[in-house]
Amino acid sequence: MIFDTHAHYDDQAFDEDREELLSGLFENGVGYVLDASAAVRNMPFILELTKRYDFLYGSAGIHPCEAYQSGDNAGKPVMKKRTSGEWGFGLLVLEALNRYEEGEIITPDWRAGDREEQLIRAMLAEPKIMAVGEIGLDYHYEDTQKDVQKDWFARQISIAREFHRPIFVHSRDAAADTLDMIRAEKAQEAGGIIHCFSYSKEMAREYVDLGFYIGIGGVLTYKNAKKLKEVAAYVPMDHIVLETDCPYLAPSPFRGKRNDSSLIRYTAEVLAQIKGLSAEEVIQITEENACRVYGVCK
Ligand SMILES: [Zn+2]
Repeated sequence: MIFDTHAHYDDQAFDEDREELLSGLFENGVGYVLDASAAVRNMPFILELTKRYDFLYGSAGIHPCEAYQSGDNAGKPVMKKRTSGEWGFGLLVLEALNRYEEGEIITPDWRAGDREEQLIRAMLAEPKIMAVGEIGLDYHYEDTQKDVQKDWFARQISIAREFHRPIFVHSRDAAADTLDMIRAEKAQEAGGIIHCFSYSKEMAREYVDLGFYIGIGGVLTYKNAKKLKEVAAYVPMDHIVLETDCPYLAPSPFRGKRNDSSLIRYTAEVLAQIKGLSAEEVIQITEENACRVYGVCK
C-alpha cells in the first residue's frame, strides 16, 4: 500500500472535504499517511487528526520559515506563512490551541524553557506522533534570518535525539549549511528523511551514507525534473520514500491542482520506469522503507 511520508491534511485547502477525502484514501490504495507539522498552530489539529483516523500519523516540529524569534520578538514568526490567516485552520485548532495555552496538553514532566519546545515534547509523548519535522533551513526568501533558523534546527534535532525519533528535513537553497548542521548536531543518530529532495546526486550520496532516506514527490513527474531523475536513478531503492507534500506539488498530469496521497501512484510509475521495476514493486518497497523510518507498521 502507498505510504505517504509527508502530507499536510491540516491545511485549509482540505477544509471543504477533509472527512470525505481521508475516509476514501484506503480504497484508493493508501495504507499510511504521516501528517507533517509546520508550525505551533498546526500541531494540536494534527494531534486531533491522528486520533480520528487509524492510518494517519503525525509529527511535531517548526518549519524554518516559521522559526520563532526570541527575546522582544518572542512568538512572532520570522516570515509570513504560505497559508493565509493566522487562524486559518478553523475552530478545532483554536480550541486545541487554547488547551495548549492553558497547559492542558503539556506533559506533567515538562521542564522550564520555551513553550514551543514544550509543545513539541508534549506532542512526542502522544502515541501516534512519530517524528520531529518539518525542520531545517530555507534561505529562499530575502528576509531570511539564518541565525534564527539555525537555532531552531539545532534545538529540534536535539529533541529528536532525546526522544529517539527520526527527523524529516526541509532544506531549500541551503545545501551546504544543512549538511554542516546535520553533521555538527549528530542528526544521523536520530536518522530520518530529507524531504522533497532538490539537490544534486553528490549531495544525496552524503545523506545516504549518513543513513538518511531521500523523500521523492510529484516533482519527479515534471518534464524539467532532470536533476531529480538523476538522483532517483542514483539512490538505492532501499533509501527512497515517497511523499506528496499535499496540497502542494501534485504529480503530472495533475500539476497545479490540489494534491492528495492517492496521486502518489503517478510518482511511483515514473520512479518504476527509472528503476526498471513495476509501480507495485516501488509502492511496496517504499512502504517498507517508510515503515522502518517511522516505526509504525505491524
Ligand atoms: Zn511539507
